[in-house]
Amino acid sequence: SFPEYAVPQAPEDPLFGLMAAFRADGDEKKVDLGIGAYRDNDAKPWVLPVVKKADILLRDDPSLNHEYLPIAGLTDFTSAAAKLILGAESPALSEKRVHSMQTISGTGAVHIGALFLRKFYAGAPTVYFSNPTWANHNQIFSNVHLPTSTYPYFSKSTKGLDFAGMKNAISSAPDHSIILLHACAHNPTGVDPTRDQWKELAMLLKQKRHFPFFDCAYQGFASGDLAKDAWAVRYFVEQGFELCIAQSFAKNFGLYGERAGCFHFVTSPSSSATSTTSRIASQLAILQRSEISNPPAYGARIASLILNDTKLFAEWEENLRTMSGRIINMRKALRSKLEELGTPGTWNHITDQIGMFSFTGLSEKQVAELRESSHVYMTKNGRISMAGLNTHNVEYFAKAVDRVVR
Ligand code: PLP
Repeated sequence: SFPEYAVPQAPEDPLFGLMAAFRADGDEKKVDLGIGAYRDNDAKPWVLPVVKKADILLRDDPSLNHEYLPIAGLTDFTSAAAKLILGAESPALSEKRVHSMQTISGTGAVHIGALFLRKFYAGAPTVYFSNPTWANHNQIFSNVHLPTSTYPYFSKSTKGLDFAGMKNAISSAPDHSIILLHACAHNPTGVDPTRDQWKELAMLLKQKRHFPFFDCAYQGFASGDLAKDAWAVRYFVEQGFELCIAQSFAKNFGLYGERAGCFHFVTSPSSSATSTTSRIASQLAILQRSEISNPPAYGARIASLILNDTKLFAEWEENLRTMSGRIINMRKALRSKLEELGTPGTWNHITDQIGMFSFTGLSEKQVAELRESSHVYMTKNGRISMAGLNTHNVEYFAKAVDRVVR
């Protein structure tokens, strides 16, 4: 049997626990700033109009059935996904140095990448994450028994990037380490390196022969501009790195529950690059087969239809600007309300940070007080989901913050 010493009770996932507590709260003023999903100005989930359109087109398509996809997924989807992140003109694509495999959203892409590196990366590399990072990174890499460590990332004093600390840790890491990087809209801080800082990081990673692993969960959702949000990844590819990318379509298509994602492995330029890519592809297929057999079809079909149709693609870009624009407006509104109230401290970081999340700098005690006194729900580390704010509650939230900070 399974005695307690062998199977102890595990703690509840903090984020899912927070969601349950929010649902149980009967107060009508309650505010959910925990959720990592887009909400419209009425705090409701938003089905992107272009996704609704694609959905109808698919439902009316008599040629569709429920057969299995190939092991590596829907080819129209994976090749469009590669163009989206790398840029259609990427030499890595024309030189056939990229292998793309459909995954169970971004989480599945990180997992399959971790599994592949565990099995095939020479030596026993340590994976370095930013401190803090998306909580699941640690679990995913630990589950496949890769040693993990962290590099400093967030400066408590500036509420911006601790660039010196980050570089220092990356240069002290043993050569050939795996460095996990958030492609854009860092979760949970909302703090990204500038382009010059990315360039310095690329130089440093190259000197140290580190392997970059990009996690890209917010392309287009962060700035509203797909190329801008992919800049760091494209720069690293341009610099000739061998790297991999976990790509999620949960946020930018609002396809959270459909689990549409992709894993890309980019081989560095060399005369044998194509055959290396093909060997890697063959091993990834074996891993995929034993893990999930083949990926789910529906979300990938929706994304594929939109990515491969010029008109739908343009509509999607418009929808991305709607989401990112609303979030950017909420950042501005929150900062200006706090400044108007004269709330002690500086609040420029709210608008300096980007993407779904903001690290407010609120302490664990202040977060608990906000929940007790104002029915505001956010994670203990002071992270808020900007998508939970809207024109109806931003002032209420700013006033609540003002009270706990004073
Ligand atoms: N990586 C990061 C940094 C994330 O923030 C998320 C989602 O919150 C993911 C990956 C994966 O999300 P999903 O598995 O829903 O695509």
